[in-house]
Amino acid sequence: MLHIILFGPPGAGKGTQAALLQDTYSLVHLSTGDIFRYHIKNNTELGAKAKAFMDQGQLVPDSLTIELLQSEVEKHPEAKGFLFDGFPRTSAQAEALDAFLASRNQKISALIALEVAEEELKLRLAERAKTSGRVDDADPKVIENRIAVYRNETEPVKDHYKKLNLYHGVDGVGSINEITTRLTNVIDAL
Ligand code: ADP
Repeated sequence: MLHIILFGPPGAGKGTQAALLQDTYSLVHLSTGDIFRYHIKNNTELGAKAKAFMDQGQLVPDSLTIELLQSEVEKHPEAKGFLFDGFPRTSAQAEALDAFLASRNQKISALIALEVAEEELKLRLAERAKTSGRVDDADPKVIENRIAVYRNETEPVKDHYKKLNLYHGVDGVGSINEITTRLTNVIDAL
């Protein structure tokens, strides 16, 4: 089983690359952000709980997010592997994911981090706001908050997987194709 974590700050291009990689490797793409947005759109109880956090650029609480992720994985017993996008985003989520996979006799194959400088991220998110319709892209203060949350709460996840020798960094600046090639080079060498 190939279980890849596609990692990086908001605006790094995780969603774009995940859409391409899921086909190449026949993986199930799980984006916690997309799943939360689906729940908000469909007015579910979970959506109502997540919305306030997301609109402010805060993380949805770990307990809710971990439970959601596990139930999504369990929906795909046929999967050859998963492409995790936007999860884990805290050290607690990383530990929960590792334990959950271990309980199924599986493990993470690699965390691949897309590296993009902060100024470039802000430009990309401001550009995406024109078409995404996302509340959290529209306000520069919320964008600042998401980047700060990333630095403080999410970046430590890198160290967790570095210790396990599963960390790979990839330059996230270039054409979509160039970046896909960098990612497939890492995955093919696993
Ligand atoms: P981006 O990478 O552009 O920030 P996402 O779609 O991954 O976009 O996430 C949007 C929002 O959804 C996050 O700011 C956060 O509020 C919530 N979210 C997504 N994934 C998680 C997670 N693993 N843990 C907590 N909150 C999450």
